[in-house]
Amino acid sequence: NVSRGLLASSRIIAVANQKGGVGKTTTTINLATAMAAVGKRVLIIDLDPQGNASTGLGIERRTRAVSSYHVLIGEAELAEGVIATSIPNLSVVPSSIDLSGAEIELVNQPKREHRLAAALNTQIQYDFVLIDCPPSLGLLTLNALVAAQAVLVPLQCEFFALEGVSHLVKTIERVKQAFNPDLELHGIVLTMFDKRNNLSDMVAADVRGYFGDKVYKTVIPRNVRVSEAPSHGKPVLLYDMRCSGSEAYIRLAGEVLKRERSLVA
Ligand code: ADP
Ligand code: MG
Repeated sequence: NVSRGLLASSRIIAVANQKGGVGKTTTTINLATAMAAVGKRVLIIDLDPQGNASTGLGIERRTRAVSSYHVLIGEAELAEGVIATSIPNLSVVPSSIDLSGAEIELVNQPKREHRLAAALNTQIQYDFVLIDCPPSLGLLTLNALVAAQAVLVPLQCEFFALEGVSHLVKTIERVKQAFNPDLELHGIVLTMFDKRNNLSDMVAADVRGYFGDKVYKTVIPRNVRVSEAPSHGKPVLLYDMRCSGSEAYIRLAGEVLKRERSLVA
């Protein structure tokens, strides 16, 4: 168990779901942006080889010489990988395609699950570190869950959503027992909600019935502006501040920060 030492005042939240396309990256970027907008110092760690969080924040590939891959593998310190974004208070450690080989490279390494936790165990000046996880429960996500204090789960309201999230919750429990006793489920956010679709309502009711207060009140609607924003290298909050997606992410940030205050108090 890696002692967190000087990091005590930072909160590390993994944004995880082993399913792809459920809104992890979108939630990471926009939650981070909304938190930064109210003065929180936020670092995103892009832990997905696809690098969508890096691209979505306008970080060009040629500036990604040091990435989360180098940090995980131990070739660079966390600070060396940090790039400031165009958004005040928001920085990112980008990913690179090398990351897709990291799981194999790390397999025979000592403390392979603790690489990210060790890299984060340094004096850093962030209020929040959000880790954008890849769509699997492999060694990369495991590193995020070992490094984090809490997990935020984006969930798309579709068939089998509850099965998928139950599996994730079991994994969180296992990580908690084996590596990281402080880990907790921060909350579940319903994403890409389509109010014209009855299935969305049914699944949402099921998820709330099962997870109760762990499900944030804020629901992120399906909104075309949200899906357009990444191709402009911007969070939707900068692309179109008034669209329904932006408004929802601002509310979500308010809820997350409120939950944080009650956890810390
Ligand atoms: P993940 O990181 O879980 O794979 P993403 O955040 O990349 O998921 O989202 C998957 C796709 O859905 C992306 O193209 C993204 O732009 C789009 N998307 C995410 N959230 C919304 C939303 N609320 N409305 C419309 N499109 C969305
Ligand atoms: Mg993603």
